[in-house]
Amino acid sequence: MASYSALDPCVHCGFCLPACPTYLVTGDEGHSPRGRIVLMRSLERGEISAHDPALLEHLDGCLGCRGCEPVCPSGVGYGQGLEAAREQIFQARGLPPTARAVLGVFRYRLLWRPLFALARLLRATRLPHLLSGNSRLHFGMGMLAASAEQRGSGAAGRRGRESTPESPLTTNQPPSRPAAPLPHPTVALFRGCVMDALFSHVHAATRRTLEVNGYRVVDIPGQVCCGALHEHAGDAGAARTLASANVNALADGADFIVVNSAGCGALLKDYGRLLNSPAARSMAAKIRDVSELLAERGPRSGAALDLAVAYDAPCHLQHAQRVHEAPLALLSAVPSLRLQLLPGSDRCCGSAGIYSVLQPRMARAVLDSKIGSFAAARPRPDLIVTGNPGCLMQIGAGLRAAGLPIGVAHPVELLDLSYQKAGFYDSDR
Ligand code: SF4
Ligand code: SF4
Repeated sequence: MASYSALDPCVHCGFCLPACPTYLVTGDEGHSPRGRIVLMRSLERGEISAHDPALLEHLDGCLGCRGCEPVCPSGVGYGQGLEAAREQIFQARGLPPTARAVLGVFRYRLLWRPLFALARLLRATRLPHLLSGNSRLHFGMGMLAASAEQRGSGAAGRRGRESTPESPLTTNQPPSRPAAPLPHPTVALFRGCVMDALFSHVHAATRRTLEVNGYRVVDIPGQVCCGALHEHAGDAGAARTLASANVNALADGADFIVVNSAGCGALLKDYGRLLNSPAARSMAAKIRDVSELLAERGPRSGAALDLAVAYDAPCHLQHAQRVHEAPLALLSAVPSLRLQLLPGSDRCCGSAGIYSVLQPRMARAVLDSKIGSFAAARPRPDLIVTGNPGCLMQIGAGLRAAGLPIGVAHPVELLDLSYQKAGFYDSDR
């Protein structure tokens, strides 16, 4: 079981409060890290039960974004404490019906693959693009629309249509080839569930850009969902089952295992703690975010892209994995890109795994301040780039609901487009 001991250093100073998105929205101490730590410790000591309504309201309301960790002068491991509390609550009362249904689907490929296939069919009709909006149903449509390769209808889209009939980020998906005269470590692509089902274009861009930078990318079968959604909900048993399957499939297959979803990468790097086995620790040591592997090689510069781009840092990349510079290094390999870091770019978007499904009102309230920052930006960005599927869909849907002509993309998609324009893939056509 996860441990509460990481909460021990808390001195209740409150320095973390201004970094907490739910505290900023509510102004409620119970919705702050400090307030939640008091509740968690009361649960640990048995002073309140796992069924206590205030405990459930405030812990269920936590995004798990860990934005409170880097600002804490005492080094409190809030995320570890939260996992311990959620595991204790899960053992006492199980999951709410909606969470049980959603997590049950992600546990089995036989369930999520056909459901996501239907989602792709719906996306291909472009109805989600037309129906994007503010209500819960229309926001969901916006999330699905935002997962498509064609990104947005803004200046980026207009510019793209001048040069291609599709979108600025639509490539012809040419076969990839290594061009850099460097050693060729092998890299296994972690496919995941949502990334594999809705963001296969990002997987393709990941493979191509890694190969241009001297990596040899291999496919390894037998992978399943990483288990992060289950772990964050307190269902550590399901998370361990999924993690064990991934360790069996991936542990010995390559020099590195590359991940392009920040949420998956954070748990994959933590498999050693989750499973407490040498094989899991060995696999966890090989996990790299795609931006880390590319940054280790420079990465190689491509052709210029005339785009204004705002980078939005996924919580599980910056706070959980402590990866800050690599995505910026990746983007700096695209000449002429006008990179912006807007106010609140380091703050959670409200997606947080299945949080936006379980806590839609708070998720939207948290998102709204970020969308407001995009709307106020001058010059206005053409694209928001971020390296996590939930963030891409949440931010993309929020932009659509607000009627802002700004697209969304994974950073590696921009590098891939830059490489395509530079002709790095041409000789394979
Ligand atoms: S978690 Fe850290 S910053 Fe927040 S109240 Fe405790 S010691 Fe202070
Ligand atoms: S994890 Fe995020 S939402 Fe939860 S207390 Fe920390 S900053 Fe607030």
